Amino acid sequence: MSETENKKRILVVEDESKIAVTVIYNLQRAGYACELACDGEEGLKKALTGNFDLILLDIMLPKMNGFDVCRHIREKLATPIIFATAKAEEIDKIMGLDLGADDYITKPFSLNELIARIKANIRRSRSEIVTTPTETAPSTISVRGLVIDPAKYQVTRDGEPIELTKKEYELLSFMAKNQGTVYSREQLLAEVWGYDGFYGDTSSVDVTVSRLRSKLEVDAGKPEYLFTKRGMGYYIK
Ligand code: CA
Repeated sequence: MSETENKKRILVVEDESKIAVTVIYNLQRAGYACELACDGEEGLKKALTGNFDLILLDIMLPKMNGFDVCRHIREKLATPIIFATAKAEEIDKIMGLDLGADDYITKPFSLNELIARIKANIRRSRSEIVTTPTETAPSTISVRGLVIDPAKYQVTRDGEPIELTKKEYELLSFMAKNQGTVYSREQLLAEVWGYDGFYGDTSSVDVTVSRLRSKLEVDAGKPEYLFTKRGMGYYIK
């Protein structure tokens, strides 16, 4: 357990030196060891060789943009990645493409929020590593024609495979395990994203739900699986 005594290592890929300096200063104060890369190529190189616990990745970067950096990292590593973005269009792209990023944070971000998200993402990635191989094979979950197979991370509807991003899959499988229970956006952020006591932006829940519907439902406007309880949240039945 000596690893827990060591500092967690974070790679900050950021070309705006003012942001980089502030972020690194505060992460170091919070007990993290940081390294900086000022462009996409350097970021990718360091990510692949540096043994980091988490990567904070800007999108608009010289030499190689954050999306490509992320894609290349994911060919080799499962290190948690948080995108830092200033634009709504970029958020849409992050959620829509299966880039394998774990999270995003919108600029300008508060440092407390950044640190909360870093903690949550590192905790999640560690618990996945610890629990996955030792657990007995989890059984499949069925909701009528929809079958979720946790052993294969696979979802089918009437036998047809449905391609989901990691977050879409996690949201679906969490709600399907608890069929009929209505979850608020905040509860889903806590359960699926790992943000305990986080009261900030919940739009990533809505975006993920709407993407999930467009993949699961025959008519996303008249859902048969993933329902909205007005003013309360979401549930699966
Ligand atoms: Ca930038």
